[in-house]
Amino acid sequence: MVCDGGRIQWVGSARLAPQADDELEVEGFLMPGVADRHVHIGLADPGAVLLGGVTAVRDLAWPPDVIFPLADASELPAFNGPLIRAAGPMLTAPGGYPTTDRWAPAGTGLEIKGAEQAAKAVVAMADRGAAAIKVSLNAEAGPTPTDRELAAIVQAAGERGLPVTAHVQGAGQAERALGAGVNEFAHCPWTERLSESVLEAAAKAMRIVSTLDIWSYGAVTAELRMAADNMARFRAAGGTVVYGTDLGNGAIPPGIDVREVLLLRETVGMTSDEILEALVAGPLEPGAPADLIALARDPREDLTALGDLKLVTRAGRVVTAT
Ligand SMILES: [Zn+2]
Repeated sequence: MVCDGGRIQWVGSARLAPQADDELEVEGFLMPGVADRHVHIGLADPGAVLLGGVTAVRDLAWPPDVIFPLADASELPAFNGPLIRAAGPMLTAPGGYPTTDRWAPAGTGLEIKGAEQAAKAVVAMADRGAAAIKVSLNAEAGPTPTDRELAAIVQAAGERGLPVTAHVQGAGQAERALGAGVNEFAHCPWTERLSESVLEAAAKAMRIVSTLDIWSYGAVTAELRMAADNMARFRAAGGTVVYGTDLGNGAIPPGIDVREVLLLRETVGMTSDEILEALVAGPLEPGAPADLIALARDPREDLTALGDLKLVTRAGRVVTAT
């Protein structure tokens, strides 16, 4: 592989590679760096996340005055951490989740009142560079946006080309998200068993960010069983699952969470190839970012190889412990 200017320029057998200024020889399995689609990077160590093989993250709720400048800074070569994309704050009802939750600093939730204000909040976040819009539908923790507000959020986000991702918790909230045209579940729903018809409709219209380990930390729990059951049936209906951990919001290790990977196989039944696809943002090909990891073994034969890193690069630079 040859990289130039932070991007992959050429992929193929070393013998056929064009001349390069610097050469690095690594024996192992080379693949794109891992993308974690659900983090709270402000509660984690970005350098440790990158060193652990995660080269891109999407932050799903943090105060906008902190997270958007950090996302900008993450594009610079000097930044010691993954590329950060952010949703900004979670849109919620007055007093709703996560405005009173201890993990969330002031500004992590943005309280909206009325459809007009909801749409304006989406536009404001889009103008600041949001990569997605996050909405809180957590009926167990407090009030949630109304159906009219939710519809306004989805419409305004659609007009700006932004996906809407929802935290759904409590009876009927997954159905509300689906009915409103939300694009993604930020966690696989874990509080209710979803019906086949809901999962079939969701499989056509939405994707799921996995976050199984956040319910279990290596143990078997009722929440894990419920989420895995919904996810397995969602996948059987043709739905897409992407890797995400909710890093920062619990005892999730920085970098690739091998427990999350193993849960996708053991509790959801995904194949190694399907899991590898869920872990990365795109294939290794010319033009892709030179965000790479090398593993000591082939993860298609042994998924624990994802915890055995020999090399991490970000934008073509070799990442080392500092
Ligand atoms: Zn989260």
